[in-house]
Amino acid sequence: MNKHHYTINLEPSKMPDAWYNINPDMPSPLPPPLNPQTLQPINPSDLEAIFPKGLIEQEVSQDRYISIPGEIMDIYQLWRPTPLRRAYRLEKALDTPAKIYYKNESVSPSGSHKLNTAVAQAYYNKKEGILGLTTETGAGQWGTALSIACSMFNLECTVYMVKISFNQKPYRRILMQSYGAKVIPSPSDTTDFGREILKKDPNNTGSLGIAISEAIEVAAKSGGVKKYTLGSVLNHVLLHQTIIGEEAKLQMELIDEYPDIVIGCVGGGSNFAGLAFPFVHDVLKKEKKIKFIAVEPAACPTMTRGIYAYDYGDTAGMTPLLKQYTLGHNFMPPGIHAGGLRYHGVAGQVAHLIRHGVITPTAVLQNPVFQANLLFAKCEGIIPAPESGHAVRVAIDEALKCKESGEAKTILFNLSGHGHFDMSAYDEYINSKLPDYELEDEILKKGFEGIPKVNL
Ligand SMILES: *Cc1c(COP(=O)(O)O)cnc(C)c1O
Repeated sequence: MNKHHYTINLEPSKMPDAWYNINPDMPSPLPPPLNPQTLQPINPSDLEAIFPKGLIEQEVSQDRYISIPGEIMDIYQLWRPTPLRRAYRLEKALDTPAKIYYKNESVSPSGSHKLNTAVAQAYYNKKEGILGLTTETGAGQWGTALSIACSMFNLECTVYMVKISFNQKPYRRILMQSYGAKVIPSPSDTTDFGREILKKDPNNTGSLGIAISEAIEVAAKSGGVKKYTLGSVLNHVLLHQTIIGEEAKLQMELIDEYPDIVIGCVGGGSNFAGLAFPFVHDVLKKEKKIKFIAVEPAACPTMTRGIYAYDYGDTAGMTPLLKQYTLGHNFMPPGIHAGGLRYHGVAGQVAHLIRHGVITPTAVLQNPVFQANLLFAKCEGIIPAPESGHAVRVAIDEALKCKESGEAKTILFNLSGHGHFDMSAYDEYINSKLPDYELEDEILKKGFEGIPKVNL
């Protein structure tokens, strides 16, 4: 028998049928979200203008496990359980005693983990009679996932795509349109907020914050027939992603393994949390010891250089305020290629666990990320998304530390998606045209000035 477990598959019948909610296990209660008008703790019903009740319930739930409805389980089976892989060939190339495992979320039809929550969000909206969903997309990953989910539940899908990406990434746009989504470059003349921006600056190339404001406006003014969806940051989104970590735990159990180090890249925090939180449960409740590393780009250093404060999720200040690490909701990060990681804030749950010392954040530059991605691709055959490469980089660095110390640590990271729509970024790297950005304090200071003053 082959002793080597290259791929650890979970039988479809063993797929976990509940998501893990970390709220009841938090070392202290999570600071409450604030109403953007009153700056006082929000009443969950205030959220009903933009979200369905089922998701608001999950947002504030204190139940440790929330069962996954059968209809969602059926759709998950199109690509789940995803494989856990041991990266033997990468270990060999690094000549490390470390054992490197990765959860391969790139096998989903959308090419990333985001479909895990898109399907769940579409389901709960459909159940409450909603006719259409609105959202924003930057790099296009979230818009793609929501387009697929909407097509499965027969919902209208409107995606505000950051204008610069709309122009630079036609394939992503066409992909969304193929599933039936309406894709609008943002800022646009379809909303009051978009028109206001365009009046001041007709050549504005857009930002995620502006696109969020437009998508929320459409939902809020739809008379209740359309709702808004977010692909990261909120508690219910992180909750849906925990299927990743719940599966990984069972897969590691199958081969008698347990991680010493768990790594994920962080934009809003959902794929990292999805893999890590089920293991954080073991650390908080079962005295296990694991090092959790949350990796962000040095060009958008939210967790490593941001301020822990209440801030909005969007540029217009329409979303509830979350206590988080933030660079300021007006902060415009440089145009690095990991578009999914260019967000000024981070999930409140992830921020809270950083405050409590459970999660360690770190930042990496994009050239070393692409270097790691190409080594990974040559060993494992998969071209990682630029975002996922941040986790690959740190997994390799940790494995190299093991080579120095001679320790055989078990490393687990999340391969959040593939990079098939990011080949122009690889082209720039291969031709040595990829810039690295180390942000000066002065630039960050400007962003911090936009953080609202909250007396709580
Ligand atoms: C969107 C995206 C991310 C970043 O979002 P998180 O919510 O932090 O997971 C990471 N990797 C891929 C492939 C993405 O599409």
